[in-house]
Amino acid sequence: MRQNKDSYDVVVVGSGAGALASAIAAHAQGLSVLVVEKSDRYGGTSAVSGGGVWIPCNHQIAALGGEDNRADALTYLKSSTRGMVAEAKLEAYVDNAASMLRWFEEHTHVRFRSLPLYADYYQALPGSRPGYRTMDPEAFDAAELGEEFFNMREPSPGTLVGGRLAMTAADAHRMVSKEKGWMKLLGGLMARYWLDIAWRRRTRRDRRLALGNALIGRLRRTMLDRNIPLWLNTALVDLVERDGRISGLVIEHKGQRQTLTARRGVILGAGGFERNQALRERFLPNPTQSGWTAAPPTNTGDALLAGLKLGAATDLTDHAWWAPTMHVPGEEKQRALFMERALPGCVMVNGQGRRFVNEAAPYTDIVYAMYDDHARTGRSVPAWLVFDARFRSCYPIGPLLPGMVQPDFRVPEHWWGTMIHRATTLDALAEQIGVDAAGLADTVARMNGYAERGEDLEFGKGGNAFDRYYGDPDIKPNPCLAPILKAPFYAVRVDAGDIGTKGGLLTDEYARVLREDGSAIVGLYAIGNTAASVMGPTYPGAGSTLGPAMTFGYIAAHHLAAQQ
Ligand code: FAD
Repeated sequence: MRQNKDSYDVVVVGSGAGALASAIAAHAQGLSVLVVEKSDRYGGTSAVSGGGVWIPCNHQIAALGGEDNRADALTYLKSSTRGMVAEAKLEAYVDNAASMLRWFEEHTHVRFRSLPLYADYYQALPGSRPGYRTMDPEAFDAAELGEEFFNMREPSPGTLVGGRLAMTAADAHRMVSKEKGWMKLLGGLMARYWLDIAWRRRTRRDRRLALGNALIGRLRRTMLDRNIPLWLNTALVDLVERDGRISGLVIEHKGQRQTLTARRGVILGAGGFERNQALRERFLPNPTQSGWTAAPPTNTGDALLAGLKLGAATDLTDHAWWAPTMHVPGEEKQRALFMERALPGCVMVNGQGRRFVNEAAPYTDIVYAMYDDHARTGRSVPAWLVFDARFRSCYPIGPLLPGMVQPDFRVPEHWWGTMIHRATTLDALAEQIGVDAAGLADTVARMNGYAERGEDLEFGKGGNAFDRYYGDPDIKPNPCLAPILKAPFYAVRVDAGDIGTKGGLLTDEYARVLREDGSAIVGLYAIGNTAASVMGPTYPGAGSTLGPAMTFGYIAAHHLAAQQ
């Protein structure tokens, strides 16, 4: 919906969760706001994501029987960010995240639920918690969005059961770990989906939105209530600087350029440079491919480039929200392997057939380990996830449902040899995927020994609460370790992918973009993956990208409102 208006207090670029949150917060401060989105769909990576936010000291913790405090949250962040992030920014995050969330819950449609068992990723670091800080968006009824629902980016197929049914993170955990009642839950979700015949006639998409779609749906509904305009197919091309401040921007819509005035300023929330191969090669470790990302195609670093043109400083551009990803033929983006690796009975190996990492480690750390090992062996990018018939039968892998539900004869023919490899012996599998057979045999023998013992003597898989979150509780003594014995054997290629880049424009504790000399570019703010992350090089807990995106969006909105 386009209005012929070219002057606003604030223009927000991009329509991910941080961008929409900042637009709503600025509007609530009495400012006139426009959101411009380059794609023909709103929501960005945020819409296809898990939608989780990592909110230390959130208001639900105490009610759920947990405990958190500012000092521990800061201690944890300081150690996990390894001195690479300004203290003022860490403090701004810890001091504002919980109040941001509370404000949204009280004044908008946004609702989250704290996950008591979703452990911080670095359990050994001081100040970590075994749960509660990660929060899952509550499911949302797509019908609340009216026709605007169809303009939202669709969820990742990887987050849908059978490519159709939406599930919250809590549902997913119950199903994967086969908690009591999981079958009833699945049956209920299926019945709700298939019996909703009136909705089925309109679309195959699930009416019950979950994860990133629920979060974006809730934010978008709030924008509709407030009449905040959102222009699709409208790209930032350049920023306009006048009298020493950012006073607007040049946009392009259907080939036409237009200058918009932003009296208070511009908030850049246009994602990272995941899909810009030249920027990836310039900043990230090599080899790297834009095709390995799980982010949508429109995140090409436009806002980063616009900031660089103005002399903005950057930071962390050699880092990403790394995640091992797999290719599914015909899909637009790769699928992140979040859960599969932690399950018992699989092993991740390099071309020598050797392990180089705890398979259950945080996804970011898996890819750091891939690059580290690649620097030594030249054979870890790509790596391979190898498993046996028992694993295949019991657990999902990428788009494959467990073999007991989707046996091999139901796997599309063109996936064999492209997405998944299978052989009757480990040696034959090794040959098929170009991995050293003796190395693989030795690795599997060792892993089988660790499974019997219940302890991974090399990498400690399953040795902490985070690893075990996606383990199989029926497997004892270690829910992340089981032998790899039963033919046929399978392998999936693992790419050094990401769920977003995390380096970008350097910002201060108010989300203002800084120059190399540390001075702020007046009127210019950056959030989400357009900005260098407050989380430094690591991933402290699930929701570490969206929590800060929304929090610094909220901070930026308040800062803008306080300016003349
Ligand atoms: P985006 O959400 O990608 O939004 C950027 C938007 O800007 C896009 O819509 C893009 O089209 C638009 N844009 C780009 N260029 C321009 C331009 N020139 N003009 C106008 N618009 C432009 N993170 C979490 O914290 N919690 C999770 O649970 C989680 N789960 C994930 C699961 C998956 C499968 C994936 C892929 C990611 C997940 N992430 C998660 C990561 C998270 O989704 C991203 O890091 C986050 O969404 C980035 O937000 P953003 O606002 O920076 O960018």
